[in-house]
Amino acid sequence: MNDLLRLLIKLQDTDSHILEKRLFIDKVPLRIFEVDEPLKQAKSELEKIRQKNETLAKRKKEQEAKVDDLNEKIKKMKSRVSEIKTNKEYQAHLKEIETFEKEISATEEKILVIMEDLDSSMKQQKEMEKKVSIEEEKINSFKKELDQEVQKYEKELDLLMDERANMVGLIEPDIYNTYLTLLDNGHGVAVTRARNEICLGCNMNMPPQLFVELKKNEEIIQCPQCRRILYHSEDTEPNI
Ligand SMILES: [Zn+2]
Repeated sequence: MNDLLRLLIKLQDTDSHILEKRLFIDKVPLRIFEVDEPLKQAKSELEKIRQKNETLAKRKKEQEAKVDDLNEKIKKMKSRVSEIKTNKEYQAHLKEIETFEKEISATEEKILVIMEDLDSSMKQQKEMEKKVSIEEEKINSFKKELDQEVQKYEKELDLLMDERANMVGLIEPDIYNTYLTLLDNGHGVAVTRARNEICLGCNMNMPPQLFVELKKNEEIIQCPQCRRILYHSEDTEPNI
């Protein structure tokens, strides 16, 4: 095989690896954002439940204060019983106490309902707190794994960039510039395989005579359609 062609194939292979690793690193924030979504949802659910529980606790306190207040009123009234002079006044007095007592029992019923609500809502809060901490653990270990992978990829990228620089040093500037233009226009693929008279870069057929030349791998031949630099290898052959 032509030495320059071999070098260009290797450069393409290196660039493909570099591109793949850069894409992985670039996508890290998006992947974290996606994984973060269930945690955000669980946190917002938890906040809603907490607010609900605060409201319920506040209502319970208000009702309890009402009961205290009514009890206080009854106590005061009972202490004034000696001031009552007529039976009519006494009956009215008893009636008033009875009204307060009824109000107390209605309020206590309300408190019971609130307490039942609060009880089940506190259970929900506990479950949601558990979910939040599970999601937090999940995302933390995911971030840690990802961080390790990024570090590994960055080291590999450094090595690949060194290899790349060495290869580029061996290629004439004109050819290298052509390669760069092709890389840019070809979405990261400047050098590609041809098989059965088809360019695997653009999947277009080529003249049979060109394919005959191409099979020798002795010249720099570009695809007549996409301009990519072509080389030939059978399916069973490794890609150099
Ligand atoms: Zn092509």
